Amino acid sequence: MSKQPAWTIKSAEDYYGFKRWGGSHFSVDPRGDLRVHPMGDDRSVKIVDIVREASSMGLRPPLTIRVQDLLRRRVIQLNEAFLRAIKGEGYEGRYRGVFPVKVNQLREVVEEILDAGEPFGFGLEAGSKPELLIAMALLEQPDALLVCNGYKDEEFIQLALMGRKLGKQTIIVVEQVSELDAIIRTARRMGVTPHIGIRVKLATAGEGKWAESTGENAKFGLTPSEIMAAVEKLRKARMTDALRLVHFHIGSQVPNIATIKKAVVEAARYYCELAKMGFPMGLLDVGGGLGIDYDGSRSAYESSMNYSMEVYARDVVAHVKQVCAAAGVACPDIVSESGRALVAPHSILIFEAVDRIARDGDAGKPPRGKSHQVIRELEAILANKGKLDPLERYHDAREKRDEAHSRFTLGYLTLEQRAYVDRLFWQICRDLRARMAREHDVPDELARLDSLLAEQYVCNFSVFQSLLDHWALDQLFPIAPIHRLGERPTVQATLVDITCDSDGKVDDFIDLEDVRRTLALHPLREGQPYYIGAFMVGAYQDIMGDLHNLFGRVNEAHVFLEDDAEDGFYIEEAIPGYTVDRILGMIQYNAEDLCRMLKRQVDRATRADSVKPREGVAMVDLYERLIRGGTYLINGEPERPRSRRRR
Ligand SMILES: *Cc1c(COP(=O)(O)O)cnc(C)c1O
Repeated sequence: MSKQPAWTIKSAEDYYGFKRWGGSHFSVDPRGDLRVHPMGDDRSVKIVDIVREASSMGLRPPLTIRVQDLLRRRVIQLNEAFLRAIKGEGYEGRYRGVFPVKVNQLREVVEEILDAGEPFGFGLEAGSKPELLIAMALLEQPDALLVCNGYKDEEFIQLALMGRKLGKQTIIVVEQVSELDAIIRTARRMGVTPHIGIRVKLATAGEGKWAESTGENAKFGLTPSEIMAAVEKLRKARMTDALRLVHFHIGSQVPNIATIKKAVVEAARYYCELAKMGFPMGLLDVGGGLGIDYDGSRSAYESSMNYSMEVYARDVVAHVKQVCAAAGVACPDIVSESGRALVAPHSILIFEAVDRIARDGDAGKPPRGKSHQVIRELEAILANKGKLDPLERYHDAREKRDEAHSRFTLGYLTLEQRAYVDRLFWQICRDLRARMAREHDVPDELARLDSLLAEQYVCNFSVFQSLLDHWALDQLFPIAPIHRLGERPTVQATLVDITCDSDGKVDDFIDLEDVRRTLALHPLREGQPYYIGAFMVGAYQDIMGDLHNLFGRVNEAHVFLEDDAEDGFYIEEAIPGYTVDRILGMIQYNAEDLCRMLKRQVDRATRADSVKPREGVAMVDLYERLIRGGTYLINGEPERPRSRRRR
């Protein structure tokens, strides 16, 4: 067998795909540590340094790191991409983007986006009353748009119209014809002229996981005849000057640029028709859908996209221009509601692998006493006495193992014998895999041995809280260790979380082609934490995560570049994850009541002399401390109440 080529930093970059999905934002330094480059230039921060700094502040992993400069960078990139496209195409309208709040509602995220977007007049999109309440308070720039989507009641409409009175550019997008009556009624009552948009139900089918956001059965949008009915209503109400915008949304993470082009052309046609009917119009909103290349393959595969942000902007602008020119209609200002593309990259989830579940080790010594027939047969398969071909050998081994399992159930094999059978079986599998490593044409069943034999790394986090879309939609996120990258990763593993749910696992990983069933990781070392990062988790995961097993939100550190700081960054905001008492409160438990109930039991035991008084006090202390503590595992020494620092 030829010697493996040496493992280098470059091998790590290739294997984990840092450059492919991370662009210029990630690199591995000569010491094998992963660095993030928030601005995509030379300035970088070692991610392990952030983890250490956060840990010293009491925020151990699982930890969400928000790289705020990276978030700002994305906002600027999107706006500049449209500015360049507009200039390049000689387009006569402006770009007026909005951030859809639902993609990440966290205050620091929304504020950072507004701040970075201020020079561009970047606005917000709200899809519910709570989101609109956020947007109304935060968005003060008079030039920025506030687009209101989603189902609306009169209160929602009232709030949006109140915005008009405050000088905000709120636009109410009609999703159902019935909403129009409520808008007309409320606007009359409040004495304001509303600005209205119409969401159209495009015939262009979406593509990707969210394909059903559009088309005949979509739950949103107006059909052509409903649009005609809406037009009639507006005319009757003498509110024709209210209609300003055409909106569509073909779903999130659209992998194929051809889909986007088709949708833009169709929507632009609606725009032109309405403009020609004499409505003031002025705005075309192309919704979301701008993708993220999670696997770095630049393909039209679900987790990827076959275009760049730059190409997206250019195609949108060029196609709107073309359609308007053909119709002889003035070009509208273009609005986009890109959420995922703005916020996904800035957020990194760090968790620690705390244990490994390995397949049974060496076959070891056979059990004492007379050997059973089935064991002798398995031993023969292991020694490959019959010189069988690999697939046959594998089938025989499985058959014998199954036979042994039934014999155990029937009482003919002892536990010790059964354990030995399993070890023999895995030994055979390992032997087969080793032989197959040299083959080109590996039968399917044997190719699957890799994942069958993979180890499981137990990771201190919850898939349901922090990587929900991986569980719900099989969405792939880039996952990689953030240190030891100069060292060859020799263990093929899958990840399991600490929930008591067998679905709490990650066993699909990004690859250039297809999907990997296992990820190469480093052997765990006693006493040394092993940190793994899940990347590009800033879109949707934050809010949609749930409380399965009551783990709740993880610790969070918001990081900024700082040239004067020793490690090149500072943590501006440290947000502790949920404590047990906080989560218990959400499901109607009162921590103090629980403590009292426990104390009563301890008192009873103390009186009965089954617990010593000092022991009893310690028990109550422990219970009270844990109920105020975090929900995730604390690896290593438990946290002691910290002694007050002397100044
Ligand atoms: C969710 C949503 C968006 C955001 O879509 P992304 O693909 O994340 O950019 C935009 N507009 C509307 C109406 C939405 O519902």
